[in-house]
Amino acid sequence: MASRQGSSVTTSARDAALQTVRRRDIRCVARLLVPQVRCSGGTVGHEPLFRSRGGNADDPNQIVLLCSAHHHWVHAHPAEALVVGLAERHQPR
Ligand SMILES: [Zn+2]
Repeated sequence: MASRQGSSVTTSARDAALQTVRRRDIRCVARLLVPQVRCSGGTVGHEPLFRSRGGNADDPNQIVLLCSAHHHWVHAHPAEALVVGLAERHQPR
């Protein structure tokens, strides 16, 4: 990907990762995984491997795009989120 040198805005690694994720996913990725929840609200970057469990918030490969409704659902239903792949157990080696 082209770098954005020359911009006066400093882009953090997290912002750069989110830009990549938004280009890749375009829409909420949970709309098909969790059809019982209707997409609503703006999109946010979600790390299936939660940061508190060792996820890297700056790695686009560890971030998926979720709408706010599904993001809320994932955190409210961790067991179900695990089943559909929107959360992962951290497995320390
Ligand atoms: Zn959604």
